[in-house]
Amino acid sequence: MTEPADRKQPERLRPPPLRDDCFALPAGVDWTPVDTALAMLRERLSVVAGSEVLPLGQAQGRVLAEPVVARRANPPQPNSAVDGYGFAHTALGAGDQVLPLIKGRSAAGVPFAGTVPEGYALRILTGAALPEGVDTVIMEEDVSLGDGEIAFRGGLKPGANTRRAGEDVEAGETVLHPGRVLTPADLALCAAVGVAELSVRQPLRVAVISTGDELVEPGQPAREGQIFDANRPMLIALLRDLGFHPIDLGRVADDRDSLRAAFDRGATEADAILTSGGASAGDEDHVSALLNEAGAMAEWRIALKPGRPLALGVWNGTPVFGLPGNPVAAMVCTLIFARPALGLLAGEGWREPQAFEVPAAFSKSKKPGRREYLRARIRDGRAEVFHSEGSGRISGLSWAEGLVELPDGAAVIGPGDPVRYIPYGSFR
Ligand code: AMP
Ligand code: MG
Repeated sequence: MTEPADRKQPERLRPPPLRDDCFALPAGVDWTPVDTALAMLRERLSVVAGSEVLPLGQAQGRVLAEPVVARRANPPQPNSAVDGYGFAHTALGAGDQVLPLIKGRSAAGVPFAGTVPEGYALRILTGAALPEGVDTVIMEEDVSLGDGEIAFRGGLKPGANTRRAGEDVEAGETVLHPGRVLTPADLALCAAVGVAELSVRQPLRVAVISTGDELVEPGQPAREGQIFDANRPMLIALLRDLGFHPIDLGRVADDRDSLRAAFDRGATEADAILTSGGASAGDEDHVSALLNEAGAMAEWRIALKPGRPLALGVWNGTPVFGLPGNPVAAMVCTLIFARPALGLLAGEGWREPQAFEVPAAFSKSKKPGRREYLRARIRDGRAEVFHSEGSGRISGLSWAEGLVELPDGAAVIGPGDPVRYIPYGSFR
């Protein structure tokens, strides 16, 4: 049945009209660009982690609190880089050489005590200190060994096959700076320059809380409408991976008092609190509501996909990062925002993940307004992205090995076009 065009519509609730572009940013709302949000975090946060002195062997992965100054040069004295024969270069004439050997040898840790007279050579091994009278070494492979003498071709440069004292590090040089996350190679460097103890930061304690009435513990019976808490195991593992000390504060129902108690506990036991879920402005978004109530809340509507609402606040002096509940958004927001922020709190300074420009193996056209992170991985030197961008697709998170970052503005990408790829490992 058709109605006459002039007939008055009854006054009843109707859905809002669809916009031309229903994904455009709502008018009058300030969306914070990713870089602005990061700059604000960088400016407002500073180190809170305490420090302690640890022996070298226990310092791997810790954040350096004080500079490391070389107590000794590396190498500490000039030594031979090869197994061969050492002598003074000034004694060599032009053309082929024959030098008599003196008795004895210089080996690593067992130096030759005497002086090698000019015009003579001494057997010398790799790492052995150059004795008095030796500044040049010839490799044994380049020598004919006769009875008490050696012969070799001319053309050897002064100082050949030797290592200068301090050519790697001079004593007194600062070899590592505060904020450095200590690697196995760093430990070798500290050991080599005579530093056996390091002043490091205590690991940043980060409380992890999942929120939502629908959540049950994995492995427990789940009723209709319930889902397993996937964020907590992910975030705890991720934090550990990033070098922080996660503290599991469990699941909290969508209830203001329970959440308040969890925040109180987090503020006592941890240096920072990471929550997931309840971060928007909905009826059951208690994280943002509670932070609002404390008057220490900033709801950051960040122009990013996935995961725009990020509730940031301070609870009893402890920063709270209220992540979105969707696991994909929770992980992306942790990597992009929480990770550098926690790094600052942990004493690492501000660190940005290393991104690589690689050819795309996909096509995509994006609208302006939000920076986008796609679940991606590299195969055959090209960035593949997961077939679905849905932020509930946990399988895509697991499939991926990193993120492709698409710019804030519009972009049209075709196969072979360069895109920015950030491996998950770059966030460490
Ligand atoms: P919320 O941010 O609380 O509105 O949650 C957004 C979506 O993420 C909802 O579908 C939630 O059920 C889901 N979600 C929230 N927390 C978790 C969690 N810990 N594990 C898995 N999914 C979650
Ligand atoms: Mg929720």
